[in-house]
Amino acid sequence: MLSWEQSSSLAKMQRERAWVEIDLTAIAHNVSQIKRLLQSRTALMAVVKADAYGHGSIAIAQAALQSGATWLGVATIPEGIELRESGIQAPILILGATYTPEQIRAIARWNLQPTLCTPKQALVFAETIATLNTSPLSVHLKLDTGMSRLGTDWQAAMEFAQLVQRLPNLAIASIYSHLATAESLDRRVVHQQQQRFETAIAQIKAAGVKVPKLHLANSAGTLTDATLHYDMVRVGLALYGLYPAAHLKSVLSLKSVLQVKARITQLKTIQAGTGVSYGHRFVADRETAIAVLGIGYADGIPRNLSNQMNAIVRGQLVPQIGAVTMDQLMLDVSQVPNLQEGDVVTILGHDGQESISADDWAETLGTISWEILCSFKHRLPRVAVGQALPGFALDVK
Ligand SMILES: *Cc1c(COP(=O)(O)O)cnc(C)c1O
Repeated sequence: MLSWEQSSSLAKMQRERAWVEIDLTAIAHNVSQIKRLLQSRTALMAVVKADAYGHGSIAIAQAALQSGATWLGVATIPEGIELRESGIQAPILILGATYTPEQIRAIARWNLQPTLCTPKQALVFAETIATLNTSPLSVHLKLDTGMSRLGTDWQAAMEFAQLVQRLPNLAIASIYSHLATAESLDRRVVHQQQQRFETAIAQIKAAGVKVPKLHLANSAGTLTDATLHYDMVRVGLALYGLYPAAHLKSVLSLKSVLQVKARITQLKTIQAGTGVSYGHRFVADRETAIAVLGIGYADGIPRNLSNQMNAIVRGQLVPQIGAVTMDQLMLDVSQVPNLQEGDVVTILGHDGQESISADDWAETLGTISWEILCSFKHRLPRVAVGQALPGFALDVK
């Protein structure tokens, strides 16, 4: 444990140049909003893979569990181990595929729960677990109903489930699939996937396999259709306060969790005709006040946003100018009087009436908000603010 003085000077140091600010009260808010859509039989899995979509997995997992999520989802074994090492005891499902005996031993050792995608993989698991002298491992069977990614084809689900049921060292904890188009207004593919899922489950049942928990929905499935909820929903994006599609904003009111902030490191005034940054891709057409910020593409600000992004300075939207460089970028702050070096600027987030969201960047860049959230590098400290619930220890990681 850090002493208060150590942790407060650490918190100060983390805010010296540029940082990602994580609002844990927004996690609590989003979890409660999502839970309002769910029946009491439906559990909420907080998907915290990829370092909780760039937010910092330990603080997010703790906040989500404090607020009512009961499962965690990660992509890889090291992501699961990181959570276990922090003391988290909730069940953790590894959504990615794992194959090797070394991986399987780590899964058992750290009490993680794997996704089984093929009969061959199930056999390797059973063989490896048999050498360990442990109780049967809880496993989750993945069916491919139309995503064409991981999983056994839904038409072969019955044989797959029968095989795993017969293996003495494995216990089927759930059967699940993943939706490819759940945010779409056109529901045809979603309905086809759901029908395939239910057909496979009916066949599994008819073959005498005890049907365990079922789950199908990601954020988009959770927000669009309660019949997709089953026993659990696997929610990533909405937990972080973003909507899978703009038309879902009316379904519930989410708060974005992440903000990106940086300090002004230098202020200057340039004359008309002066170029700014590499390649002089911006040339001032008037006398211009410039703020230099200590944040750049090595922190995860996409260079393709050069001359196409804004920042918020004292509640005012200002344009970024010139090429974004590795460690720094420049703003035109001519419209904001009395700025000082050291002032904090919001790159992504809100200040006063203005806000800039990951959706805004995604639209400019022709990508999706998921990718924007995951793009911030570890050079930016994650600074947690607020508390998920009263009495919950603040984790300033
Ligand atoms: C990442 C992932 C999710 C979460 O998706 P969101 O759209 O972010 O809610 C759910 N299920 C699986 C299998 C995933 O890989």
